[in-house]
Amino acid sequence: MENLIDKYGRKIEYLRISVTDRCNLSCLYCVPPEGLKLVPKEKLLTFEEIFRVAKIAVDLGVQKIKLTGGEPSARKGIVELIRKLSEIPELEDLSLTTNGIFLSNLAEKLFQAGLKRVNVSVDSLRPESFRQITGGGDLSKVLLGIDKAQNLGMKVKVNTVALRGLNDGEILDFVEFSQTRKFEVRFIEFMPLCGNGWSQNLFMPLNEIKDLIGSFYTLQPTDGNGVATVYEIENGGRIGFIPTLSEPFCSGCSRIRLTSWGGIRPCLFSNIEYRILPLLRDGSPDEKIAEVILKAAQAKPQYNPYLAQKTETKEIFMRNVGG
Ligand code: SAM
Repeated sequence: MENLIDKYGRKIEYLRISVTDRCNLSCLYCVPPEGLKLVPKEKLLTFEEIFRVAKIAVDLGVQKIKLTGGEPSARKGIVELIRKLSEIPELEDLSLTTNGIFLSNLAEKLFQAGLKRVNVSVDSLRPESFRQITGGGDLSKVLLGIDKAQNLGMKVKVNTVALRGLNDGEILDFVEFSQTRKFEVRFIEFMPLCGNGWSQNLFMPLNEIKDLIGSFYTLQPTDGNGVATVYEIENGGRIGFIPTLSEPFCSGCSRIRLTSWGGIRPCLFSNIEYRILPLLRDGSPDEKIAEVILKAAQAKPQYNPYLAQKTETKEIFMRNVGG
């Protein structure tokens, strides 16, 4: 097995796979007001193609895979993909990130197929505000999905994008949510990866949230996962922070991404992409695909290019590239 090490010595062991650019919600921090253009279906990777790339990446040293999108649970066949991926013996961690709307129906099938870990996006615990942020989402369905996943024994983490003026009055409710349900709630900084949907006014640095929580609870540092700083608090709560913009963690980044249209992206904040779709469809051998993955890893920038003011992110959409 070759190890994927980039030119700054970072071990690349985490592949995030966007299985679709389609989503059943339109979160205001993700989709610009004018909407998003979808990739034609025939240009999306098939599940066979995704599996092939994943297998090659694991052979190169990838140990963790997360399926994302778009909404991965909205694509037909996702259970079968999970089953195949979970059968790769060298893969140490397989997870999926979802908005949770379909989770109560799918959790059992996903669990049986081998999914043991799921991240669910919950940006508000108030039904009306949830509907507003997600463009019509039904919070009760998501909560039901979380219950189902937890009852099956899946490990659940909740992701919450911190949005000034929208959910900043709910920080302590999220803390309680974490304590009651015994799962990690991770606050994520709003990122300019949504074109005209970005607004500095909505941005909230996570140290504000940490200070607020810290004035009510004791934050006990505990193991994170590379990008999140995680704390245990009283009564079984766990709070994570992912301060992508205010405290970048590029030196600990071990990720590359596979887009739903068959590109390998070395960094979420860069448009640099290595195309593998043509190789997947012209009969190229695995070695050629491995070469492209290695090249992409080598092209990983040392720092977030947006913060280093080298690139604009107007053309980069989280929902397209895969969050
Ligand atoms: N639909 C799935 C979900 O809701 O988890 C997976 C895709 S979504 C793009 C993945 C994650 O990206 C979610 O946790 C979402 O909140 C986050 N996200 C999307 N746009 C973002 C932005 N502009 N800034 C920060 N996080 C964002």
